[in-house]
Amino acid sequence: MQTKVVALSPARSSMLPRAPRTVLRAAKDDMPPYDGYEDEVAKRRISRDNVGVSFAKPTDIRTARLKQLLQDEDFAAAERESAAALAVLPELADVARLRGRALLSPLLDTLIDGGAVGKADFEGAYEAYRLASIMNPDDSAEADEALGRIRDLCQKLEARDKNDLEEVVETTGKAVEEKALRFGRGARVVCNTGRNSEEPWEAGTVVALYHREEGWAPGEVVPYQVRLNDGTLIYAPFDADGCIRLRSGDDLDVDVVVVGAGAAGIGCAVSLTRAFGLDPARVRLLERGDAVGASFRAWPEEMRFISPSFNQQGWTSSFDLNAVAQDTSPAYALHAQHPSGKQYADYLAALAADASLDVRLGTEVRSVEKLADGDFDVRVRAGGADNIMRTRFVVWAAGEFQYPSTGDLPGAEHCVHNSKVESWAGLPGDERVVIGGYESGVDACVNLARAGKKVTVLASTPTWNVQTPDPSTELAPYTAERLREVTAPGFHGPSPELLAPLRVLRVEEASEGGFNVVSAWKKQETPLRPEGSLRTPFEGAAPPGAAGSELVVHTNQPPVLCTGFEGSVAAIGRDLFDLADDSGTGCIAGAPLLTAEDESTKTPGVFLVGPTVVQGELSFCFVYKFRQRFGIVADAIFRIQIPPALRHRRRRNFQGPGARHEGRSPGPAPGEHVHERSVLLREHVRGGLLTFLN
Ligand SMILES: Cc1cc2nc3c(=O)[nH]c(=O)nc-3n(C[C@H](O)[C@H](O)[C@H](O)COP(=O)(O)OP(=O)(O)OC[C@H]3O[C@@H](n4cnc5c(N)ncnc54)[C@H](O)[C@@H]3O)c2cc1C
Repeated sequence: MQTKVVALSPARSSMLPRAPRTVLRAAKDDMPPYDGYEDEVAKRRISRDNVGVSFAKPTDIRTARLKQLLQDEDFAAAERESAAALAVLPELADVARLRGRALLSPLLDTLIDGGAVGKADFEGAYEAYRLASIMNPDDSAEADEALGRIRDLCQKLEARDKNDLEEVVETTGKAVEEKALRFGRGARVVCNTGRNSEEPWEAGTVVALYHREEGWAPGEVVPYQVRLNDGTLIYAPFDADGCIRLRSGDDLDVDVVVVGAGAAGIGCAVSLTRAFGLDPARVRLLERGDAVGASFRAWPEEMRFISPSFNQQGWTSSFDLNAVAQDTSPAYALHAQHPSGKQYADYLAALAADASLDVRLGTEVRSVEKLADGDFDVRVRAGGADNIMRTRFVVWAAGEFQYPSTGDLPGAEHCVHNSKVESWAGLPGDERVVIGGYESGVDACVNLARAGKKVTVLASTPTWNVQTPDPSTELAPYTAERLREVTAPGFHGPSPELLAPLRVLRVEEASEGGFNVVSAWKKQETPLRPEGSLRTPFEGAAPPGAAGSELVVHTNQPPVLCTGFEGSVAAIGRDLFDLADDSGTGCIAGAPLLTAEDESTKTPGVFLVGPTVVQGELSFCFVYKFRQRFGIVADAIFRIQIPPALRHRRRRNFQGPGARHEGRSPGPAPGEHVHERSVLLREHVRGGLLTFLN
């Protein structure tokens, strides 16, 4: 990909107005500003650099000097000297922290051995950490955390008996689980089993952390339980490279393959690489179109985003509704409130270039095969040739737009789906029947009317008068406003005819030429809007016919189908996901079944991002909704493979109310075969505690 740097967000320093510096003024306006502030700041600017040699002097010399300065009443110099003396506090805090560790370690050893340790024994360590916290309050997180843990431990020790000891070690083990171990559940590893002297290392997957088994002594745990690729369950007694290590990526092309470079694919890839630090060279986006944002580029020319873009970053904690990466704004980049498809695709392409994403254009994913070792072979067709790419994870982001649904309508072959329309104005003829009255149908209606065509909309629900709490289950304000515009008296073209509630039964070729669209009137559902609604009722629709009676509308042109999308999962990804039954309503019916982290329940290692994601009753069908899940997916992938040091970066991208997180699925079923070796992992538990405390 060609790299082109495009401004995606304002350079804050230059674009945002600065908050004015507060100046203290006397009542009279002509008084100069109070300037003592500058002096006070200058006084505090005492660092190692400007105290120079005196910094290295022993404390007693410095104290003597200080006393002398005070005697001489040179308070300014005394203040500077004392500040320089105190500059050593952060270093002393470090010493105190190390002392805390030195005092704590043997106590933990004794504890793990079942030895007698009382609350009072922790006093020294506690005091050391307390000092560390006080002496360097700017960097006290570690000491504060240690203090909290010691307090917890002491509470448990107070009520200690034989069983409690086990509980102390176990609960502490649990608490350190995510922080102390090098790998998470699901990590692909190799273990030194020694079963085969030729090849002692065997590949498998971590299935449990801090594993213990029946009959083991209290406190006895091992860091990992691992399922080898031949199905055998073993455990790794040590969390060390000589015993267990990540499988090398030598046989992999990349760590993550993202299928599709649309809004979801680009957004999730940015989250993986920028927010979570994965090497962009290890995340590959496969896009069958010839440019990033291919679906958006295929939008009808007149179509616009209905969710408004506005650049409020820097002023509020939220982002442009249509942004897929933090610190970017389509409104700012494009200077458009309702971007066209092409504009938005340009924003995505700029983002991909800016984040140095590895996007392979013209590469169609044909199938994804899970291998015995847990990796995936992604079969692609690019440039007329077939190829295979091997990866640890697959993120499915192939969207919906390119997989339209005809709603199983008999005669759909006589129609044109709205996703295939290049331009509403460019459609032949001066009239059209639109089947479907939700967002796409009303958008088609508005744009056809604006192009001077006579439109008849056949809708199952009079959406123009529906009010719901979820902005994506009612017409967007932008669409409602545009509909009022084209149905208002004095509109320059023929007024659209809006007919609802109707069930369209079939489309037939008419004997006189053209087509007949045959529908039946449905019973009007009430109420469509809550009592006390402030909205002006929409009066521009035709009155409904008698329920059950038939309506035939003739058109000379192929009717326009605005019947939604089947989506890529249902169309080509069924092998990878189980689908819900059709009993739910709207997007929930037939939705792919996912874990709380949007991982396929059918194929672990495959994640779904984009508008098809459903969690419980929540459907993430718009950009501002589904972007909240990027962090969840990136987090899940990282929890499996990332080193603990990077984990603080988790869940930073687009966390909102929909971004719930409940942990990964549990480990193996009970009663499965276990390798017969058991080791008391004293160092490990102690190490775990210490790592946690550190
Ligand atoms: C009429 C209409 C108006 C909309 N207006 C809004 C709006 O105002 N605000 C909003 O938030 N959302 C809106 N949406 C929804 C929004 O467009 C979609 O939610 C969004 O495009 C989904 O992004 P995606 O990346 O999942 O899918 P896409 O943008 O469709 O991206 C999927 C990508 O995958 C590629 N692909 C597909 N199959 C394969 C394959 N087998 N191999 C390789 N690549 C493949 C495609 O070429 C495409 O580039 C609208 C949708 C429609 C249809």
